[in-house]
Amino acid sequence: MGTHSVVPLTKGTSMRHCEVCKQLIDADRAEAILQTRLCTEHAREIQKYGGEFIMSSTQEKTSKEGSLKKNYGGISTRLRRNERAISQLKDDYDRAKGQSGQNAG
Ligand SMILES: [Zn+2]
Repeated sequence: MGTHSVVPLTKGTSMRHCEVCKQLIDADRAEAILQTRLCTEHAREIQKYGGEFIMSSTQEKTSKEGSLKKNYGGISTRLRRNERAISQLKDDYDRAKGQSGQNAG
């Protein structure tokens, strides 16, 4: 125990904090997964709610008028944040944190 809460400013721009527990996200992880907003611990936790991200793939529409040629290969996958899972996780966290009447505005 006895951790300093001083976070040194580094040149890295990928310093982010966990959306759930506000801990600094491990730099390696933050760089590896640019979209993540969860620390390692909560990234694991959120698996039970389906994961931090929802992968959705959509077929790109390539219908052009007058074009007889069909375009294939227009599938784009995108990651969407699993907002519901994240709020559930926050809920869990708040509950576990329990009774303290600390209110951060
Ligand atoms: Zn966390």
